[in-house]
Amino acid sequence: MIRLEDIQKSYFMGTQAIPVLKGITLDIFKNEYVALMGPSGSGKSTLMNILGCLDSPTGGRYILNGKDVSKMVDDDLAEVRNTEIGFVFQQFNLLPRLTAAENVALPLIYAGVSKKERIERSMEALHKVGLAERSHHKSNELSGGQIQRVAIARALVNNPSLLLADEPTGNLDTKTSVEVMEIFGKIQEAGNTVVLVTHEEDIANYAHRVVRLRDGLVETDTQKSSWQMGA
Ligand code: ADP
Ligand code: ADP
Repeated sequence: MIRLEDIQKSYFMGTQAIPVLKGITLDIFKNEYVALMGPSGSGKSTLMNILGCLDSPTGGRYILNGKDVSKMVDDDLAEVRNTEIGFVFQQFNLLPRLTAAENVALPLIYAGVSKKERIERSMEALHKVGLAERSHHKSNELSGGQIQRVAIARALVNNPSLLLADEPTGNLDTKTSVEVMEIFGKIQEAGNTVVLVTHEEDIANYAHRVVRLRDGLVETDTQKSSWQMGA
């Protein structure tokens, strides 16, 4: 599903190039559940931005679902982003005056989906995260964990094949983090590919594979044995 071949990313400060990703080669298969770890500054967010087609690499190739997205222009990238990728961030980015269902439906408004279908699909997405009964509540009536679940539902509402999450439990206490990780597990079991960034080993333990970055390179890439055996 995802093939990264010698991905490089440099930021430019004036004329000076600062290399951040120095040659990342990685395959991620459909339905994998990957945790991306590594020290602060190792390039995790930069790699997530590239995986999410928010940014283009300065070298190498990125093949997503058979398409070379590394060569795409911005409009085509936006199309890939809207149809194939869902994002969850550490900051939940919900609009406080809207209900859970309205927040979840937002991406569908931009996609020009009819009101009837927006309601159906936002309810379906809320159901996937176990929050259907909270659909009419505004964010100030929801707990932190529930708000993050609404954000996950919003990321799922376009039926993306790839779900990316950057520190999705970074603002949550332990109990709530577990609740959110269980939701990601269910989403992966339902057929999505999940890639998340975390600093916490306990959180990474929910994934089936842990990729560690250091100084812009893959340092280790470890599969859990139970997952390899198909358990
Ligand atoms: P991580 O997510 O692992 O903490 P990042 O990908 O955020 O790492 O950053 C890696 C390095 O790239 C850091 O040194 C950071 O300061 C630098 N960096 C990230 N984004 C930019 C940018 N837009 N412009 C310049 N430098 C950046
Ligand atoms: P994280 O904790 O997720 O790694 P950061 O605080 O490193 O996030 O970065 C937050 C945002 O700022 C990112 O979008 C990153 O690309 C950008 N950024 C990070 N470092 C720099 C930098 N030196 N110059 C410009 N932008 C940067």
